[in-house]
Amino acid sequence: MIDLRSDTVTTPDDEMREASRTAAVGDDVYGEDPTVNDLERRAAEAVGKEATLFVPTGTMGNQVAARVHTEHGQEVLAERESHVVKYELGGLAQHSGLQVRMLDGGPRGIPTPEQVDEEYVEEDAHRPGTGLLCLENTHNSKGGVAIAPEKVADTARAAHDLDVPVHLDGARVFNAAVALDVPVTEITDHVDSVMFCLSKGLGAPIGSILAGSEEFVSRARRTRKLFGGGMRQVGVIAGPGQCALENVADLATDHEHARLLAAGLAERPELAVQEPETNIVLVDVAETGTDVETILERCREAGVLGTKFGPTTIRFCTHRDVDRGDIEAAVDAVAGVLA
Ligand SMILES: *Cc1c(COP(=O)(O)O)cnc(C)c1O
Repeated sequence: MIDLRSDTVTTPDDEMREASRTAAVGDDVYGEDPTVNDLERRAAEAVGKEATLFVPTGTMGNQVAARVHTEHGQEVLAERESHVVKYELGGLAQHSGLQVRMLDGGPRGIPTPEQVDEEYVEEDAHRPGTGLLCLENTHNSKGGVAIAPEKVADTARAAHDLDVPVHLDGARVFNAAVALDVPVTEITDHVDSVMFCLSKGLGAPIGSILAGSEEFVSRARRTRKLFGGGMRQVGVIAGPGQCALENVADLATDHEHARLLAAGLAERPELAVQEPETNIVLVDVAETGTDVETILERCREAGVLGTKFGPTTIRFCTHRDVDRGDIEAAVDAVAGVLA
């Protein structure tokens, strides 16, 4: 089976399993796990922040960040199609009593500075006040688009001018940096906190990183405990996480595979294929006259997995567990399904 549902399906390689087996461990709630401490230090260096916190999931990283940046009852500005809005079970409201004010980020999922100015709410006797701006890069729902550092900077500056902190959901921010051929710090420098996933294209089995200032991270550490994420001898998963940090350059191969997949699928005139910028390929199947579920079921029978991503859209995601041969086979299999 060629599994292109997500880059989360990667399984730990031998090096990661060995890193897990040999990791020095201690109780991380006491701050005594040397492997976690080392991972957090290296991750901070990688994204150019003072400190980081190892969290079990990207969702927890985003939710902890929102809690730390805000006060109960405030508003959060977030893009309409962003992960924190669509796919985190309304956690901003559930965990932190936050009301989301959604901004339409257009085809690239990045709100403009003008939108931030317009939607900002100043606290008064009737209005709760805006406590946070959340951005996402790459933007998953828009097809893994890589948002340029200048765009992030412009929108973040608008928030900062209003004294509103900015959190970046950078689950795939290294994909953005590799695609744009810039150091990731050119993106992360403009935000107060950033979350990125070790468990996606970087290949770790578990884990994400939340980064920010020393003060932010020390508060985030308490909030992680509150949310049930205080882990013990967690070096066994931080070890693979250290390996994952070394895999950044390999993301370029995933991007090349996505372009290859898109080009192959685009040969079918009935498919509308979005030009991929990173490792996500969105395919609109409306013109096939067949519904997404049926196409995905036939693809499964032909040995290829994708995900339904909209009423007529399929998402295919490349990752380090598929090679060029798999991509070519996937193109042939989809062509066979449509023929
Ligand atoms: C996957 C993802 C997350 C959450 O990560 P989990 O580890 O699955 O909780 C957050 N934001 C974006 C954009 C993602 O793609």
